[in-house]
Amino acid sequence: MFDTLSDRLTAALQTLSRKGRLSDADIDATAREIRIALLEADVALPVVKEFITRIKDRAKGAEVSGALNPAQQVIKIVNEELVGILGGETRRLNLAKNPPSVIMLAGLQGAGKTTLAGKLAMWLKKQGHAPMLVACDLQRPNAVTQLQVVGERAGVVTFAPEPGNGVGDPVDVARRAIEEAKRAQHDIVVVDTAGRLGVDEELMKQAADIRDAVQPDEVLFVVDAMIGQDAVTTAEAFRDGVGFTGVVLTKLDGDARGGAALSVREVTGQPILFASNGEKLEDFDTFHPDRMASRILGMGDVLTLIEQAEQHFDQDQAEKAAAKLTSGQLTLEDFLEQMLAVRKMGPIGNLLGMLPGAGQMKDQLAQVDDKHLDKLQAIIRGMTPAERDDPKMINGSRRLRIANGSGVSVREVNDLVNRFFEARKMMAQMAGRFGFGGGGGSKT
Ligand code: GDP
Repeated sequence: MFDTLSDRLTAALQTLSRKGRLSDADIDATAREIRIALLEADVALPVVKEFITRIKDRAKGAEVSGALNPAQQVIKIVNEELVGILGGETRRLNLAKNPPSVIMLAGLQGAGKTTLAGKLAMWLKKQGHAPMLVACDLQRPNAVTQLQVVGERAGVVTFAPEPGNGVGDPVDVARRAIEEAKRAQHDIVVVDTAGRLGVDEELMKQAADIRDAVQPDEVLFVVDAMIGQDAVTTAEAFRDGVGFTGVVLTKLDGDARGGAALSVREVTGQPILFASNGEKLEDFDTFHPDRMASRILGMGDVLTLIEQAEQHFDQDQAEKAAAKLTSGQLTLEDFLEQMLAVRKMGPIGNLLGMLPGAGQMKDQLAQVDDKHLDKLQAIIRGMTPAERDDPKMINGSRRLRIANGSGVSVREVNDLVNRFFEARKMMAQMAGRFGFGGGGGSKT
């Protein structure tokens, strides 16, 4: 989402790094470039103005530090100010002392509320909570069923009005849901409310009535990051009409400019709690202002990558594979296992995008897509266990069989096998050179 912004900011700051000393004119020129980058990314004008003023003031008045050169000092300031715009500290959910806690979702139709309800429920469940979803969007046809479906996928209970009783009163449903949550000992209730295509009074009133009836611990304003400047005006309308305690940005996987979403926190004064970046229930995480700033400045988001790895990797398996790798004994079976483990962490493009410098390697990274990995997986799956264990036995007729079985050309099978040998040899050589070999002889 923030690729262009990221490219522009990195370029603006890179020019500085070639200079030994920075004059006020250098700082002004950089500030101008940053200003253009932010405006082009759709960041709201008042936010840009404030940001630039602060950067200039701080950069010009910066104490000379022994540890950082002047350019690094400016980068540090830009980073800190960006973290500030995004909210500073990571803001966690406020939960009630006496359960159930109530989290109410508000936003326009299509913002991603229902999807978010499922994501949030699954996330809460992973943290040991027993959430319940509540269907208070009784306006949109199918909204109730859609919530029940995501609830089922997330493995949580959904409270909904019985079908056949007319449209029903969302305030009444919300009230009954809280009673039911107490009875069934759900500690968190997530209330999905109706949205409209545009802001209207009736929508606001209904949301406010639900709010008054359930006294939520959090009202989360859900906003589609792709809608540009409307994100800011909608946020203001919801702030005045319903009031909210936090923001959730959705569709950060889109390729819109996204700067408006970055302005929401500064304009409304309410923190961003979560970010959604895909249609699947797993495409969701806590929003960390510092990590997002670091990503936007092309410094990568290694912390998130490490966290995801910790969640999905089996340490023993990874160590065994590493030992085999460094001793040149890796098999295609190990390779497949590692690939599957990495892929559990999410789409490969998202993962690679978190690495420092990813912005500059965009073209190369674009070639590593999930479809390519699907193909590699299919080819390896088309091999017998013996072939995976000892790829050297894969002769011409075996290659043809594998190609036919996995729906690819013989050339693609050749490619995979040859590259595997090359990579295995290279890894073993590197391991030998750097002295971290896992022992045992090389198979090649
Ligand atoms: P609601 O009207 O606010 O409840 O919105 P929905 O939850 O029905 O979402 C509207 C559409 O956006 C659906 O097609 C979702 O699959 C899609 N969607 C929701 N969140 C995301 C996201 O983070 N990324 C992408 N790409 N699509 C999303």
